[in-house]
Amino acid sequence: MTTAHVVATHYVDLTGSAPEGIWFAPGRVNLIGEHTDYNDGFVLPFALEQRALVAAGSRSDDLIVMRAIDLDETVRMPISDLAPGRGGWSAYPAGVLWALREAGHRIGPITLVLSSNVPLGAGLSSSAAIECAVMAAACDLFELDISPIERAKLSQRAENEYVGAPTGLLDQAASTLCQRETGLFLDCRTLEATLVPLPLSSKGFEILVLDTHTPHSHVDGEYGERRATCEEAARLLQLPALRDIDDLEAALAKLPDERMRRRVRHVVTENERARLAFTLALQGHLEELPGLLDASHASMRDDYEITVPTVDLAVTAAKTAGALGARMTGGGFGGCIIAWCRSGDGSSIGEAVERAFAEAGFTAPAWFVAHPSEGAGRLI
Ligand code: ADP
Ligand code: MG
Repeated sequence: MTTAHVVATHYVDLTGSAPEGIWFAPGRVNLIGEHTDYNDGFVLPFALEQRALVAAGSRSDDLIVMRAIDLDETVRMPISDLAPGRGGWSAYPAGVLWALREAGHRIGPITLVLSSNVPLGAGLSSSAAIECAVMAAACDLFELDISPIERAKLSQRAENEYVGAPTGLLDQAASTLCQRETGLFLDCRTLEATLVPLPLSSKGFEILVLDTHTPHSHVDGEYGERRATCEEAARLLQLPALRDIDDLEAALAKLPDERMRRRVRHVVTENERARLAFTLALQGHLEELPGLLDASHASMRDDYEITVPTVDLAVTAAKTAGALGARMTGGGFGGCIIAWCRSGDGSSIGEAVERAFAEAGFTAPAWFVAHPSEGAGRLI
């Protein structure tokens, strides 16, 4: 477990003085709205309890000093060297400082000591947690007046242009804007972000997040193929994006092949489900959401064809063990599932999936019960 004490101690060891503060930003999980982002559609993530911490302070020399406690690595660079092209973990914090400077904000020499308990590479956005925590620290230390949505966009720019990963705004928006017991409904066209209540525990629910530990093979190629098919379909329909389809049946009738029709049907119905989930949550009808998760999973499995045997087994086993609804979450071909459970059932459902994986000869999964948590801020 990452603690404030650990990052503060490492900061003192590195610099000889106490940090000026400690900031945090969470990982996130997407409740619903999968492969909708690049179709100008809708997503609905919430922030996790798992988060990155950064102890930070300004420096009197001309250096940026970054330490990753979890990797036991320290990187030092003159602030004048802050340009894209560096690889490795330090590209994430350095990229945020670079994006701030590119946007015309005055930043100075800084020490950043980082640690995180967001699982790496599981699709829970450990990268955005690092970026958004550094963003929160830099904004406070350098007294930058930047709105939360602007902070998210600059953190995204760090990931896109400095790290070189072409991702949407979902991760950084969730990590920055979410609050306790809320989700974030994000319109990926207008970037309008709206908080939506998710008071799971008081309604008698909890959400299990289970990492299938499936290695992501062929994921980049498959992602590119889905994206290209969506763009081609929108072009054939003479629409800016698949989000603009009003009449699904009429649109499908105009498309040339069965596979393309299924891809389009997923995107259109998933957007409908994300919007419906948003409306139902606003009305307090959380009990209606698990059914939408089931439908989302079936659509990803049958129409978009982005699930794999481990993921399908995890969903089936979770449902058999009593989950009210379950779906794969994230880009697909592995990664995590979420299961909507009655309060107190999450652990036994996680154990049931673990047994099903053992029987099938799959690598043991990892799981935890998630609590919609607050976005980036100052801890101390
Ligand atoms: P994810 O789905 O977890 O965001 P990414 O590949 O986008 O996966 O980001 C993972 C990368 O983020 C790691 O390879 C590392 O460079 C960086 N990172 C995440 N957590 C940490 C950490 N605790 N310390 C240092 N770097 C981290
Ligand atoms: Mg990431």
